[in-house]
Amino acid sequence: MPFAPIPKSLADLRRVPHLGNYEEARRTFSWEAARAELDGLPGGQGLNIAHEAVDRHACGPRRNKIALRWLGKNGESRDIRYDELGESTSRFANVLDQLGIVAGDRIYALLGRIPELYIAALGTLKHRSVFCPLFSAFGPEPIRARLQIGQGRVLVTTPELYTKKIAPLWAQLPDLEHVLVVGQPPAAGPAIHDLRALLERASSKYRIPPTDPDDQALLHFTSGTTGTPKGAIHVHAAVIAHQATGKLALDLHDEDIFWCTADPGWVTGTSYGIIAPLACGVTSIIDEADFEARRWYGILQDERVSVWYTAPTAIRSLMRVGTETAREYDLRPLRFLASVGEPLNPEAVVWGREAFGRPFHDNWWQTETGGIMIANYAALEVRPGSMGRPLPGIEAALVETLADGTIREITCPDEQGELALRPGWPSMFRGYWNEPARYAKCFASGYYLTGDLARRDADGYYWFVGRKDDVIKTSGHLIGPFEVESLLMEHPAVAEAGVIGKPDPVALEIVKAFVVLKPGRIGDAALMRDLLGFGRQRLGAAVAPKEIAFVESLPKTRSGKILRRLLKARELGLPEGDVSTLESA
Ligand code: AMP
Repeated sequence: MPFAPIPKSLADLRRVPHLGNYEEARRTFSWEAARAELDGLPGGQGLNIAHEAVDRHACGPRRNKIALRWLGKNGESRDIRYDELGESTSRFANVLDQLGIVAGDRIYALLGRIPELYIAALGTLKHRSVFCPLFSAFGPEPIRARLQIGQGRVLVTTPELYTKKIAPLWAQLPDLEHVLVVGQPPAAGPAIHDLRALLERASSKYRIPPTDPDDQALLHFTSGTTGTPKGAIHVHAAVIAHQATGKLALDLHDEDIFWCTADPGWVTGTSYGIIAPLACGVTSIIDEADFEARRWYGILQDERVSVWYTAPTAIRSLMRVGTETAREYDLRPLRFLASVGEPLNPEAVVWGREAFGRPFHDNWWQTETGGIMIANYAALEVRPGSMGRPLPGIEAALVETLADGTIREITCPDEQGELALRPGWPSMFRGYWNEPARYAKCFASGYYLTGDLARRDADGYYWFVGRKDDVIKTSGHLIGPFEVESLLMEHPAVAEAGVIGKPDPVALEIVKAFVVLKPGRIGDAALMRDLLGFGRQRLGAAVAPKEIAFVESLPKTRSGKILRRLLKARELGLPEGDVSTLESA
């Protein structure tokens, strides 16, 4: 029998949204007041993410509450209470101490969504080392690049991932001193440890040392158009924004069951899959398995999820399966739906109403901002297709960079510009790892420039227009074309490669490569298969090109830069635009 979603008015009666009046909230909000909602370390010893997310609940009234409900891909499940999470993360911090790891060292995780990933993240933060998650579907190349750049000293991984991806690379990673394996280590040696055995032997007591709110806490890699991946640095003060946005943008209340479907290998999965729900003291669902429509509906129903934070690619996939399937499940506890990571089509917002009785609330942010910046709110009208309005405490603007490098602020409604933010919110990135010049380039005239183009309507709602640069968004993951091009050029048949995002109805974009072959090489079906396989093997399926075209040459500027914009326009049959910088123009 199909279940009818409860009427919105009844759902609303259940609780008052944290943000009721937008203008009033903007007027009265301050980051100081948001900070005051957190406890801080005992004795005024600073601010530590893990204390706010775990320890303060572990020794308070929430100690017996389920912090994490883990659902394994083979049907098993495990509940971790706040007090248990307090103990296991303390054990992890003690393990780091025993290994001689010190504050500021980088601890990487290459793990699927298993409990140890969450324990390692929070234990690292307790210890004041810097946590750096890697997406477990990355191939060896992206893993090598990120470990090398961030000079990781410790890596936590599984036996399978170790054997497949780390063992062949380790010789190229001189900074990597310890690998902690979840399960039976596949090799013996003083640097390879059985994490579970170490945790068992370690003390479950750990006093978090004094932590300056500006101490480094997280390193999140993101992609630019050129060069190597960039490691965005976030500090412990970020938890102020995680907690505040958990309340204001996701409307988290103590009794909520929250499910963020993002993988912690990407920033959403850490900020909102680990920190924000715990900082808000709610119960968070973790699903180890990959997307599957009926599995997801089953989780929403069986776990009585009330707040769900997901992504447009998943929503579009659910839409394809059909509204009728959604109606087979009892989703009545579900009261707030949010989406992030890519543009959310207006049809998807409306479909939310059809399938769940309530719309999806789109919100916008990026790795560098560390937390939600622009959002549609529970108590406010959703404008389908719009990202919403800036959070209280966030000053957003649209700007144009003039030829002399100065900024013109765009004030006319509906005029397009680059989305810019006034620095000063606590989860703002504090640098790109070892790349001060690249960081400095993100700022002009007192603004942080996001690289996104948007417009703002007369009521202050922001509408996403596109990226200013050539980075690719595929299934919610940001891919740098340069990283893919560089890898393809390592193939013996390839002379040059240009990579673009080709529009796709479900994944938003797919990675497509245009390849110029070396003289004498023939672009036949066998070489195509070989190249596609080479890409998948070295980059991983999430990053590798899904389509390859052999071409005679690539369009380039006179200074030799590949004009990906032109490759894309040609691919889509669109006007080529300004080609005055073209090599042959
Ligand atoms: P990442 O740093 O991987 O989280 O990717 C951030 C980028 O994703 C942003 O700069 C946007 O280009 C895109 N993005 C994030 N949220 C949205 C949204 N709600 N609508 C459109 N694009 C988005």
